Amino acid sequence: MGELIDGKIVSKAVKEDVAKEVAELAEKHRIIPTLYAVLVGNDPASQFYVKKKKKTCEKMGMESVVHELPESTTQETLEKLIAELNSKKDVNGILVQLPLPKHMDEYEIIKLIDPMKDVDGFTHHSIGDLYLGRDCLQPCTPSGIIRLLDHYNIPIEGKDAVVIGRSNIVGRPISLLLQHRNATVTMCHSRTNDLQYKAAQADILVAAIGRAEIVKGDYIKEGSVVIDVGINRVEDHTKDKGYRIVGDVEFSTASERASYITPVPGGVGLMTIACLMENTLKACRMQNNIQQT
Ligand code: NDP
Repeated sequence: MGELIDGKIVSKAVKEDVAKEVAELAEKHRIIPTLYAVLVGNDPASQFYVKKKKKTCEKMGMESVVHELPESTTQETLEKLIAELNSKKDVNGILVQLPLPKHMDEYEIIKLIDPMKDVDGFTHHSIGDLYLGRDCLQPCTPSGIIRLLDHYNIPIEGKDAVVIGRSNIVGRPISLLLQHRNATVTMCHSRTNDLQYKAAQADILVAAIGRAEIVKGDYIKEGSVVIDVGINRVEDHTKDKGYRIVGDVEFSTASERASYITPVPGGVGLMTIACLMENTLKACRMQNNIQQT
């Protein structure tokens, strides 16, 4: 049975550091980092995530404002709001909760966010800097994965990494971060031939697919490191809610072969929010020209 990569322990350590630095910033500079979240419409999952982000900010000693807009909001109204938030000195981080309603053009909205305030790391500018391997506000989930590997002293350099999924928020950016750390990366997706064979070559396997438990034990090379990004609901009438959350990896069989493995829940998901807190602090420092002590 592989060792558990515990997102609770690592995210707690990241958040403790953030809280300490936020307190120092307040004491020495009288500055409180502020995250501004924009939520359009009534999607329950989005409402849940935004609430959680606000609560975590407050626990860190940061401020968080949630700007809720109705489903019927026009593209123009949202664009104006972003421009306004870009110009406000007391807004350090801007987060537009995705997905936006169908009538909106996400690409055009995200493009407008000031890269210095882009705490999700989704703008062209941040993606460009990530591609070039420059210091920037990195997307939170990929950045959280690297933090997990580093915390457990798992070597990346020279390893064969396989990333399943090529989304702009997880698959593509994690493949870049792994390459910057000198892994040799294979990208897989829904049209990949013989996914099982390719996955089984991995020293480090990242599954970011969004399909419940499709990566089985026989996809896993003996002794490899398995990072499960997936968050999937499966029906379970033994639970009060009628469902439980599982990853993209079948934990029971994969953990038999992996040397290290992330659980779902309790793995990557916790890191995403911790890295968002770190990005908000970093954005605030950059905007105020304050170096990390
Ligand atoms: P997307 O739907 O944007 O991308 C999924 C990717 O998986 C696509 O590249 C798709 O290929 C590929 N894919 C789909 N089906 C298969 C298959 N059968 N075999 C191989 N590849 C396949 O998802 P996201 O990247 O946004 O999210 C992935 C998962 O991670 C979801 O469960 C999501 O909830 C979770 N997530 C978790 C986060 C966390 O904090 N833990 C944060 C963000 C996401 P193609 O490109 O060919 O369509």
